[in-house]
Amino acid sequence: MRNLPEKTVERLSQYRRSLNNQLDKGKTHIFSHEIANLLHITPVQVRRDIMLMGYSGTLRKGYDIREMVDLIGKIIDTDDGQKIAVIGLGNLGKAIIHYLQEKKSKLSIAAAFDINPEKINNVYSSVNCYHSDQMEEIIASFNIKIGIITTPPEVVPEIARRLANAGIKGILNFTPKPLSGQEGVYLEEYDMITSLEKVAYFVKPRD
Ligand code: NAD
Repeated sequence: MRNLPEKTVERLSQYRRSLNNQLDKGKTHIFSHEIANLLHITPVQVRRDIMLMGYSGTLRKGYDIREMVDLIGKIIDTDDGQKIAVIGLGNLGKAIIHYLQEKKSKLSIAAAFDINPEKINNVYSSVNCYHSDQMEEIIASFNIKIGIITTPPEVVPEIARRLANAGIKGILNFTPKPLSGQEGVYLEEYDMITSLEKVAYFVKPRD
């Protein structure tokens, strides 16, 4: 299942959230065209993803929603959940911690790191902030595997290198500084300005 296309994995996460909403509404089965409508994609795309997931439910009543949610959980999650570190406890770092801690998913924030003495040893949404000097030690002792970087851009390459050396296996970089890949580390960049400027371009009045 490690070889699923990235876009399929993104959609599995979206399917799970939509399917959980359907379960909350009391629905037990769903057809591919209904899932497609919820996510504004084609039923063909949904069926292709479901095939890649290896789901083999009976189709007479539609897919069993609970079975699909459980299967997506088996594909994306680990039994014990995965631990995350947030590096840079500024405006964005704090917002991410609040948001993810509320979600109570299998992904939990185990530590935050900063260099500002006023933030060290403070607890935000039950997450302790450590000095960045302790990054390697805390990441190893808490068995943290994912790092979210929300520092100023100029320190990002150094932070990424240290995260990789500390045993981090995946990095989500929220800064505008693009990262080069680190051996054995899955990298995802999220640049809000690029997304926003894309919207601005399509909104711009044309002559
Ligand atoms: P911020 O200045 O509020 O926070 C940055 C934090 O990083 C500070 O607490 C600072 O002390 C800490 N820091 C600096 N060097 C560090 C190091 N070596 N190790 C650990 N921590 C360190 O900035 P912000 O608004 O939270 O933005 C953070 C990053 O995210 C920036 O790169 C920014 O461009 C990007 N970003 C921010 C937003 C947003 O909405 N705030 C949106 C998209 C992207």
